[in-house]
Amino acid sequence: MPRRKKPPAIHSAPRLAERSAPRPARSETEQTSRPARPEALEARPERGDSRSRRGRAKQPLTPADIVRRLAVLYGEPLWRPHGDPMTELVLTILSQNTTDTNSGRAFMRLRRRFDSWDALAEAPVEEIEREIAVGGLAKQKAPRIKASLAAIREKRGSWDLGFLRDLPLDEAKAWLRELSGVGPKTAACVLMFALGLPALPVDTHVHRVAQRLGLVPPKATPEKAHDLLESALDPELVYPLHISLIKHGRRLCRARSPLCAECPLLDGCPAGQRFMGAQ
Ligand code: SF4
Repeated sequence: MPRRKKPPAIHSAPRLAERSAPRPARSETEQTSRPARPEALEARPERGDSRSRRGRAKQPLTPADIVRRLAVLYGEPLWRPHGDPMTELVLTILSQNTTDTNSGRAFMRLRRRFDSWDALAEAPVEEIEREIAVGGLAKQKAPRIKASLAAIREKRGSWDLGFLRDLPLDEAKAWLRELSGVGPKTAACVLMFALGLPALPVDTHVHRVAQRLGLVPPKATPEKAHDLLESALDPELVYPLHISLIKHGRRLCRARSPLCAECPLLDGCPAGQRFMGAQ
């Protein structure tokens, strides 16, 4: 994404880099996205001369093909991990089921109210809830944040999550997922955006576009898609694919009325070929 610019961290962590929005491809505690309409009904490319690009999809595109072609449209994503997993964790919990604007406001309120992770961890849950109310779902998120901080302090005795870099990726994910309110997408956001590890957050855009392109089976859940995509990707493609698919899902490969006629992936996209043929 063209991602929100994250607010400064609660402690004096480095300013956060831009990254893609962890918009909901929620699983367990995270899952919220509204079910998409059946694709055959929702597809109605709107502009452009499609005829020259119709035809049977050839071989499905590889992730490397997709990244390369989308880079022409959206630019080449630069992976610049910001190195602040605590801020990433709290901000990603706040971002669950709300807009980036709202979660950013909620984070800024926390930052103004609490000047350290210790202060936030020790605050009554009602106070946290009050501060993050602007972000929505405060009754769920405040206890998650408090419980996560308590678990981190108990397990590690500090707020330094840099040790996750040294664990095998599966162990790092498993460690994070033991925290309250942390599902596969939140764990992957922390590992990828903060620590530069090749964990792929699958949000609603990544999930939808990957399904349409045939990168994952049509019925793969977001959690299954995490596993399938990650295991099929070269580590250096994880970040650019995530960013590219989010941009594409927001701009052309929208849930309703995808603009297949304008899409540089059409010749290798099984769903796009079906959509165009249905017109
Ligand atoms: S052709 Fe492009 S816009 Fe259409 S479904 Fe495929 S990826 Fe999405």
